[in-house]
Amino acid sequence: MDFAYDDQNIFAKILRGEIPNKTVYEDDYALAFHDIAPQAPVHVLVIPKGPFMSLDHFTRDASDAEITGYMRAISKTCEMIGVEDGFRAIANARAQGGQEVPHLHVHLLAGRPMGPMLA
Ligand code: 5GP
Repeated sequence: MDFAYDDQNIFAKILRGEIPNKTVYEDDYALAFHDIAPQAPVHVLVIPKGPFMSLDHFTRDASDAEITGYMRAISKTCEMIGVEDGFRAIANARAQGGQEVPHLHVHLLAGRPMGPMLA
């Protein structure tokens, strides 16, 4: 089963500059910005610039350059926010994965112990 990308989702609007964001890092492939409702002292979302809904769609449909660019942007973002003591990366997908915004985003959480379990 596949799904159509909804270009009215919140992160698409952020990418078009229609909704403001607190940018941490940006390049040709990705945008990283602070989550509006942080779940940790540091909570940043990294999104690819292309219209991809989830990690499985992205790694299936994106070009090699887009995939490499996005992964490198995650690394750059980690440098920007400082994750020497560790961090957690989460990518929720679709309903059962708890995804609320249908544009791929990796949550980077840091600044406190994360505990052993994912909720
Ligand atoms: P999901 O549940 O889809 O994995 O995560 C969506 C995340 O987007 C949530 O952590 C939520 O707080 C964040 N979020 C939702 N709307 C906005 C917004 O308008 N701006 C920012 N910066 N984050 C948002």
